[in-house]
Amino acid sequence: MDHSLSQIAEMDRASVLHPFTQAKDYASGKAGDPTIVTGGKGIRIQDAKGNSYIDAFAGLYCVNIGYGRDEVADAISKQAHQLAYYHSYAAHTTDQLAILSDRLVRMAPGKMSKVFYGMSGSDANETQAKLVWYYNNLRGKPGKKKIISRDRGYHGCSVVSGSMTGMSFYHDHMDLPMGLIRHTGAPHHYWGAEPGESEEQFSARRAAELEAMILREGPDTVGAFIGEPVLGTGGITPPPAGYWAAIQAVLRKYDVLLIADEVVTGFGRTGVLFGCTKYDIEPDLITVAKGLTSAYVPLSAAIIGEKVYKVIEDGADKVGAFSHGYTYSGHPIGVACANAVLDIVEREDLPGNARTTGAYFQDRLRQVFAQLPIVGEVRGVGLMAALEFVADRDKKQRFDPALKVGAKISAAARARGLIARAMPHGDILGFAPPLVTTREEVDAIVDIAEAAVREVMDQLTREKAVA
Ligand code: PLP
Repeated sequence: MDHSLSQIAEMDRASVLHPFTQAKDYASGKAGDPTIVTGGKGIRIQDAKGNSYIDAFAGLYCVNIGYGRDEVADAISKQAHQLAYYHSYAAHTTDQLAILSDRLVRMAPGKMSKVFYGMSGSDANETQAKLVWYYNNLRGKPGKKKIISRDRGYHGCSVVSGSMTGMSFYHDHMDLPMGLIRHTGAPHHYWGAEPGESEEQFSARRAAELEAMILREGPDTVGAFIGEPVLGTGGITPPPAGYWAAIQAVLRKYDVLLIADEVVTGFGRTGVLFGCTKYDIEPDLITVAKGLTSAYVPLSAAIIGEKVYKVIEDGADKVGAFSHGYTYSGHPIGVACANAVLDIVEREDLPGNARTTGAYFQDRLRQVFAQLPIVGEVRGVGLMAALEFVADRDKKQRFDPALKVGAKISAAARARGLIARAMPHGDILGFAPPLVTTREEVDAIVDIAEAAVREVMDQLTREKAVA
């Protein structure tokens, strides 16, 4: 059944509630037509009007191997023909499920033991919270349930994970955060540091604030701390020097588990396989999604460390079966896809490319943007980076949010065929291209971004919005 593009747009407007889209403007047509995405190859996507875009955000920083990899499509198809579905309850498994789990336990940092599967980063973090509660119930500490997250952290949109997320616009009008979640200060030196405070001093202060929070709440009530090795949606911000060492010292002192949310950083984005390795983080629990399948099909995992798993195993005689699971946990197509994707990640050394091409990318961004009057900070690691725009560099003064500077620059880039994301918290342009991106493609990304930034900067200068 063929439909015209306008019919597709009409059906969509009439029947889809889109994430992060103004519902009324979209449904009424005021916001214009949807972008109907029709294809993708390498780092580019196409829309139904024949436009091609460089996707310098890899979807939502997830299509790490790039679009249109036949090898992965074939693995998905083969599995669908052989066995599209069976559950993994009551000790049922598939060869691909066992192989992937063995692989993840061996490749993950720290002392990992078992893998529990879901379909999204959000549900995997939901699982992590339940694991923290289960673990502390089984070891006779039923009061040790609070989970501390950070301002600007992003951990998903479901009830627990959305509560962990540390940005108020994800909570507003949704009755979040729920009671057991607390937020401590963001590891964001640019906006958080006192005048003259070094990164090390700032990290020590954040760790002291965490310790004060744990003492205030009562150490016997705090079960876990969750953090992304590199702050992602909250601004693509690598941790300040000394941050993770200082934080981990506090967590160990008060017997607080550490959940590393590697949904963005997992499988190579920072230039090594896991952000934990990059920043010497020893997690008790690790969350992965996105890069696990490069988003070819939905799959996520909570990777469980030996310390937590041992308590689960030791408690099993008392409590019986582990009573948590989803119809799609360990879905055969998901795990077959993940194995095919990880084959590519390893064979093509994508973490290595994120390291070397990423270093080139970071250098080029600094060369081109660091001196521009509206750029307060250029930051990033591997193949993730951000430009932070400010009205006054010297006074570190933000633009009036009503000017929507980040969104305007993102739109100007898009009009030139480049997708770079206006990050939701501030005037920030985010980049996280596929890990297969080449130097030539980096040059194209930086050139288009420069033209877009200069266009909006000139307009703001004319409007006297720049200091
Ligand atoms: N954790 C992090 C660090 C993320 O960046 C995201 C999504 O962007 C999530 C969790 C939630 O993943 P999902 O959107 O698949 O639920």
